[in-house]
Amino acid sequence: KNIKKYFPIRGGVFLKVKGYVKALENVDIEVEEFKTLGIVGESGCGKTTLGRIITKIYEPTGGELYYYSENGNEYNITKKIDKTIKDTFRKNVQMIFQNPYESLDPRLTIDEIIKEPLQIHKVFKNKKEENEYVEMLLQRVGLSPSYTKRYPHEFSGGQRQRIAIARALALRPKLIVCDEPTSALDVSVQNQIIEVLKKIQKDFKISYLFISHNLDLIYHVSDKISVMYLGNILEEATSEELFQNPLHPYTKVLMNSMPSWNPKNRKLDKVSVQGEPPSPVNPPSGCPFRTRCKYKMKICEQIKPELLGEGHRVACHLYD
Ligand code: SF4
Repeated sequence: KNIKKYFPIRGGVFLKVKGYVKALENVDIEVEEFKTLGIVGESGCGKTTLGRIITKIYEPTGGELYYYSENGNEYNITKKIDKTIKDTFRKNVQMIFQNPYESLDPRLTIDEIIKEPLQIHKVFKNKKEENEYVEMLLQRVGLSPSYTKRYPHEFSGGQRQRIAIARALALRPKLIVCDEPTSALDVSVQNQIIEVLKKIQKDFKISYLFISHNLDLIYHVSDKISVMYLGNILEEATSEELFQNPLHPYTKVLMNSMPSWNPKNRKLDKVSVQGEPPSPVNPPSGCPFRTRCKYKMKICEQIKPELLGEGHRVACHLYD
């Protein structure tokens, strides 16, 4: 709720704070049980920062994070939390990173990579059971159990991402944050990874926060989509609703930019976007999209539109 993240910019001899990169501004999202929430937007819009705040890699500058346990208890996990809650949260929330060439430790075998979280959380006392569990995980992500003694460099990008998925799955999490998990892979391999993710979501009953700049991909994997721009959520709806009835001018621009073999299929208003996104160090007043919006009005400069609506929410003065 209202998540804000500002990164300080330091300079000079004493590394004084000279300004802030305003990466997230009052972001409000909810990931439902067994569902996928897609976050889509251009590079630099704050998607990855949001994923890292949800996994508590980064602390937010403002706002609050809530975690709901299986028995329905609500925990505010924004600041310091009790060790038991912290351990449960760490087990239940995992992340798959964009680049499988960097996210796996090259000095460890696959066996050691997958066992690391199991050993930190002391899941198994029995070595045999632990080995069988690792082999089962490898099978579930479509890899041979005989790979356990090999090192990451012996695998292709797609295979490495499967290993990263097996590691993320090891503690049986409830939520996995997938940060552009296919963007570093060949197109032919991307679909296979998406199929693996969909299958394990069903088998292990997981929720995903799926981050991507690819709207087509987000549509295929998500139940609900949040459209981000310059650290703000501009529109949020179910995937079907967003594609059938996009409201925000930025969402329409994104949809128009989706490639189609037949240009006549693009029925949307031909909204074109002007210029580059503004700097998050000095974002525009009022609506964050106003410097590129062809519908901008006087009020857009003065008042920031709120994300309003039931189910389908949009932040734009055209719908006030
Ligand atoms: Fe465009 Fe104004 Fe809507 Fe922003 S609030 S998207 S500037 S019309």
